[in-house]
Amino acid sequence: MQRKSLAILFLATLASGATVPSHEPAALTPEERAAMREISASDLRARLSFLASDLLEGRDTPSPGLDIAAEYIASEFRRAGLEPGGNGGYFQIANFNLLTPVKDGFSLRITTPNGVTSANPNEVSFSTTQAIDLHHATVVKLDISTPETVAKLKPEDLRDRLVLMQAPHRGMKGLEAAFQLVGNSQPALLVLAGAGGMRISGNARLVDPAAPRGPIGFPPMLRTMSKDFSKLYDSLPNGVTSATADLHIAAPLSKPVQLKNVIGILRGSDPHLKKTCVIVTAHYDHIGMKPADDAKAGADRIYNGANDDGSGTDSVMELAKAFASLKPHPRRSIVFMTFFGEEKGELGSAFYGRHPVFPLEDTVADLNLEQVGRTDSTNGPQVNTASLTGFGYSTVSDTLVRAGSLTGIRVYKDPTASDAYFSRSDNQALADTGVPAHTLCVAYDYPDYHGLGDEWPKIDYNNMARVDRMVAVALLRMANSPEAPHWNPREPKAARYLKAWDHIHDVSTR
Ligand SMILES: [Zn+2]
Repeated sequence: MQRKSLAILFLATLASGATVPSHEPAALTPEERAAMREISASDLRARLSFLASDLLEGRDTPSPGLDIAAEYIASEFRRAGLEPGGNGGYFQIANFNLLTPVKDGFSLRITTPNGVTSANPNEVSFSTTQAIDLHHATVVKLDISTPETVAKLKPEDLRDRLVLMQAPHRGMKGLEAAFQLVGNSQPALLVLAGAGGMRISGNARLVDPAAPRGPIGFPPMLRTMSKDFSKLYDSLPNGVTSATADLHIAAPLSKPVQLKNVIGILRGSDPHLKKTCVIVTAHYDHIGMKPADDAKAGADRIYNGANDDGSGTDSVMELAKAFASLKPHPRRSIVFMTFFGEEKGELGSAFYGRHPVFPLEDTVADLNLEQVGRTDSTNGPQVNTASLTGFGYSTVSDTLVRAGSLTGIRVYKDPTASDAYFSRSDNQALADTGVPAHTLCVAYDYPDYHGLGDEWPKIDYNNMARVDRMVAVALLRMANSPEAPHWNPREPKAARYLKAWDHIHDVSTR
């Protein structure tokens, strides 16, 4: 059915007189070479040394450091001569509320046949968008140690109940499955017991009043380091238990905050294609600073986020500079965009999906850049390589592989990470709207991931420049070809995105 819908589109394209090239150029074109020459390792290093400097205090959303980064990105778009793409110059303003938890009156008691476990307010942190009251609610234990233990539970088992799990460590095998399960159900509260190694999110929550559930739909969460709760967790059987919960959490304090996506447009040169666009994106936020009262806080408390995702943000600016120098401009318009709030749940990209600058049906692809600077992957050195998430989900992969073969970069599918990471960055929000959207990275994981040591001197700038040149070629090909990228109708994992694509293009699926 969806193949038929694509066929209809192609026929419509032919009927309108557009030519559809069967192949992209076999060699690099003079225009592609010109764009590649503009990309320099020293410019990348110069910019990133500022963006990831201590001055910006880890670019938390929201924070003064994030606002400085936004101004800096806007100034670079201005230097390149891009058209402002926001509703406030280069800024797309998003009015959110910052919700801060209130501990007054907090109580949590879990009753089992063996007794009662109570939470001390001083030993918990929680985040919620509203007050919660539970009376004798069923307690469900979610064992995330393996996908099999997670698979024993269905979304209905969790809905409106108190779900008790261990605080996750990276590498727990059932984490991905648990993430999906929790996303598909609506627990009343997720309680994380014990000291986990992974930072899940800050306690304050950012909410768009127009879309309060947020893109990921995280349930209210409570974390406790209390040994009593770890013991309780150990004592319960996996799944729905006979334990019950009584809980009161007060409504959070709400404060309005203004957030910004930064958007610059390079208008296309083709009279017809310029109303369509290719977008290239990265998130300019990171996770801020380790709290001063953190027991493990040392002299350096700043999460600089040089690779995550200073490197992608820097690359977006470098590509803007390179493409703006081309005369004439590429045929389609190119939108350069950096998002706020990725680390808080892909907030900026989801906001853009709700408020696109170009109509979504005229947006032919999004290439999102993440972690393109570090080559010291935990899987071994990654020099002259790049990986794409959702590899094969759309024809964007083919364009990148060809651009890679012309520029000496091996663009590959990681056997596990390519699919697993599709939802873990800002491409997801665009894909959900139907736009073919992927994330390109050099290292999925590296030693300082979300650590204090993700600093700008550790980036391999020469490799980053080579990868960005390859990306430039791929973007130019998508911007110049009258044939737009499309989702792969033979890939089951892309089916929901193809359906969304059909929806925005008004293609009947019958
Ligand atoms: Zn990131």
